[in-house]
Amino acid sequence: MESKLQELKTHLMEINDLGSAASILHWDQTTYMPPGGAAARGRQLATLSRLAHEKFTDPKIGKFLDDLQPYEESLPYDSDDASLIRATRRGYEKATKVPPSFMAEIQNHAAESYQVWTKARPENDFSAVQPYLEKNLDLSRQLADFFPGYEHIADPLIDFSDEGMKASTVRPLFAELREQLVPIMQTITAQPTADDSCLHQTFPEAQQLEFADDVIKRFGYDFERGRRDKTHHPFMTKFSIGDVRITIRTKEDDLSEGLFSMTHEAGHALYEQGTCTDYEGLPLDGGASSGVHESQSRLWENVVGRSRGFWNFFYPKLQSTFPDQLGDVPIDTFYRAINKVERSLIRTDADEVTYNLHVMLRFDFELDLLEGKLAVKDLPEAWRERFQADFGIVPPDDRDGVLQDVHWYAGGIGGGFQGYTLGNILGAQFFAAALEAHPEITSEIEAGQFGTLHDWLKENIYQHGSKYTAPELIERVTGGPLRIEPYIHYLRSKYGTLYSL
Ligand code: ZN
Repeated sequence: MESKLQELKTHLMEINDLGSAASILHWDQTTYMPPGGAAARGRQLATLSRLAHEKFTDPKIGKFLDDLQPYEESLPYDSDDASLIRATRRGYEKATKVPPSFMAEIQNHAAESYQVWTKARPENDFSAVQPYLEKNLDLSRQLADFFPGYEHIADPLIDFSDEGMKASTVRPLFAELREQLVPIMQTITAQPTADDSCLHQTFPEAQQLEFADDVIKRFGYDFERGRRDKTHHPFMTKFSIGDVRITIRTKEDDLSEGLFSMTHEAGHALYEQGTCTDYEGLPLDGGASSGVHESQSRLWENVVGRSRGFWNFFYPKLQSTFPDQLGDVPIDTFYRAINKVERSLIRTDADEVTYNLHVMLRFDFELDLLEGKLAVKDLPEAWRERFQADFGIVPPDDRDGVLQDVHWYAGGIGGGFQGYTLGNILGAQFFAAALEAHPEITSEIEAGQFGTLHDWLKENIYQHGSKYTAPELIERVTGGPLRIEPYIHYLRSKYGTLYSL
């Protein structure tokens, strides 16, 4: 059995190597590649992805898994070997249920649809992209139907990114959250908007980066096992546990852009750098789900990085980095500026309080579209109505309404959005659990120290990689299921000191 498992691991590592090679090509494509490389790079990535898929869906893997089942059953559920076999089986079953020709059809249509969207959005022309979106919806439904026996048609699609989550677990949670959030947002936005002009002066990039590098180093990001580069749409990427990189974007006239994309991506990277090295190159090497991953980026970016305690320590340093720009700006003004709440049209620009309303709107529409309750042609109008109900404003056009996110136009409908809000909810829930175990974390943050928090996260979350599904992990770490109360408590206490609630 041991030698069979070893053979399986060797095979799995080769598949991982193909994936890592693709990640390097992708990282290069979005950072340093000259435009002339685009066509060939697309082909190279497609080749690697096809080879990896072929290797992973090889019946040989199925045979290994069958042969290893008795061994798996003889082991404790949370042993590394049992978990590896279990995770591989889940992935194998998913990958083999969908015929490669159908996956190719989805990918080709997505590429075409994306091209149409890149023109339709600036031209504010929903009708141009409508037939493509209709086909995306149809293909998403067909994809779900390769996984019969679901409770809700969105479930298989949600499961791709947030394994173990279902429409029936997410929907009531989001409905409850929306009920709490809408009045909080209304109360805040009825008060004068925070003045954030202090963030919109000229901040030379080199000093911004020097400051932010120091912050993420203190968080525990290891530059010996990672690096930071510039890109248009920031992301974290991993080639091995010893090479976890972040890409970021800075703006000289907006201090928050670079700083908070650094702390966000560093949060994702801390998770990956903290994976148990025994899992290197195997299916357990990587985060538990997109929601859990996002919980880490949000925890470091917002719960820590936009907190008052954090800035009590770092603001004097920021002022000495930018004495002309911030020397005369009091910390209260700065703190309010980085936590400004406003009704806005664009999800990616939204603040902590309103962000989830943007996400929940999309999640609800995905379910309605998949259920057939809402037709694609009625989506722009439905968008305006829901926006009015949640935000009290109506987007002036579809460009900044239903056309704003690439997700539905370049991929499928269903499963693409819930992870962002699950991440916010979970980030607060995990942080509350860490504080309960180590109340000293609060005073450490005020002293610019993050070791206790980072160690707790490593011990309880990072090292496990994807050994546990998100629901299993949440139960183990917090002693119960996913709950919105810690998040609501967090928002109320933080924004209660900034605004009267
Ligand atoms: Zn993220």
